[in-house]
Amino acid sequence: MGRTVLAIGGHIGDMDLTAGPTLAKMVQEGDRAIILACTYGERGHPTISPEEYRVQKVAEGEAFAAAIGAEFRVLDYSDGFLPDDDSAAEQIADIIRQEKPEILITHWTKSIHRDHERAAILAERGRFLASLPVGSPYGRHGITQFLHADNWEDAEGFAPDMYVEIPDAAYETWRAAIQGQAFARGETYGFRYIDYYSANMLAKGCLAGTTRACGFVVADKGAKLAGP
Ligand SMILES: [Zn+2]
Repeated sequence: MGRTVLAIGGHIGDMDLTAGPTLAKMVQEGDRAIILACTYGERGHPTISPEEYRVQKVAEGEAFAAAIGAEFRVLDYSDGFLPDDDSAAEQIADIIRQEKPEILITHWTKSIHRDHERAAILAERGRFLASLPVGSPYGRHGITQFLHADNWEDAEGFAPDMYVEIPDAAYETWRAAIQGQAFARGETYGFRYIDYYSANMLAKGCLAGTTRACGFVVADKGAKLAGP
């Protein structure tokens, strides 16, 4: 039976870009992937209103997940205003209790975006809460492996210590799927996300001795397992 991986991002699209190739690979190898965005990311467009862009972001997140064979979830928080409180962490803990992922992927702990840093804090806190015996009908659940994904916006002090090989099929699936997101295509503030992440996979592949790879920081060195 395959494993379950839960990827928790600050905004819709974050984990699609950074963890997406790894999620696509895992799904193609028989695992189950869930992408959870903590906010809609609806304030990330220079001309479309947040109300309108929120609808577009949800549609883009759903379409990306469907294209790589993952499931899509979003918490009802507003872009730029993600709290780092126990109410938000408990929502993540409840998803962990219900879905029982072996692997959790989230942002690095330092970022130019507060929502990213807070998503990482909430993922860690949610993981802890889910592991406690609190009388949930879903029981308690311990995550086996906690990983931080490689994101140019979360670069401060990020030094990958694990590389996941990305086969051509997973890369092609990811590349086709990510084209469906306006920000990734560079239509919002012009950053060439798809080029950057594609090139980064080649660069990390050089370091990992393979064609393409994604780098991660393993949060619990003591619990380090074989990668995804
Ligand atoms: Zn983001």
